[in-house]
Amino acid sequence: MTDPEQQTLSDERGNGIQLCLLASGSRGNAFYLSDRDTSLLVDAGLSGKEIERRMALRNLRPQDLTAIVVSHEHMDHIQGVGVLARRYHLPIFLSSGTREAARGHLGKITEIESFICGASFQIGRWAIRPFATSHDAQESAGFTFQQHGMKIGMATDLGAATALVREHLKDCRILILEANHDLEMLESGPYPWHLKQRIKSRLGHLSNTASRDLIGELLHDRLDHIILAHLSQTNNTPERARDAVAPVLNGHRASLSVAVQDTPSRLFHL
Ligand SMILES: [Zn+2]
Ligand SMILES: [Zn+2]
Repeated sequence: MTDPEQQTLSDERGNGIQLCLLASGSRGNAFYLSDRDTSLLVDAGLSGKEIERRMALRNLRPQDLTAIVVSHEHMDHIQGVGVLARRYHLPIFLSSGTREAARGHLGKITEIESFICGASFQIGRWAIRPFATSHDAQESAGFTFQQHGMKIGMATDLGAATALVREHLKDCRILILEANHDLEMLESGPYPWHLKQRIKSRLGHLSNTASRDLIGELLHDRLDHIILAHLSQTNNTPERARDAVAPVLNGHRASLSVAVQDTPSRLFHL
């Protein structure tokens, strides 16, 4: 039997875009996106060595990277940024708030560009639009990446799907969205009270059901694929996240997959 995900994506005529979640979760995040000419790493929250190893598993070469785009200063998003930027001479793009907060964790960076949330910027053919997210970081951002009518949206690390977030994520063909925790598992789990409160707050992380509701609002006929991301290893399982979200996709063509912490996702060809 054909994997339904494979089927949906191989139906596309293919415009040379590749993407892979090299890692996703509270112990490290890195997202690879390429149109072959311009290859981006969005966050690099594992050691430089581990990111290189994971890229190699998918036959990707760090030497081909063009730039690193950073969502916010938490270590699970920036751990390998400085090392990779120096090793491969990569410019870094981040908000000025993130730049300020990450100072001291990135080491010496020669090329650093600040973006403004809400204002598009261009890297190669990618039109990148950062937007503000509600999270306990200095100036955290989600992103959309666009070219040739293909819009890819990405929002992890958000305590609430604000009207602004929903507006930016409209009309995406691919959505990478946080499904951080199962509320029941979080509440009965081992985290101390204050941490549970932080995660559940508007500055924390999106639960499976909040993610489902957001996806329900964003569904449209041209949405091809949804990737659930940034799952907690303590307070969620891929099965729970999938089971919570799947019903909202009933009768819809979009396929669903779940990114995990320890293994890179397959390489999506769009
Ligand atoms: Zn994170
Ligand atoms: Zn974070």
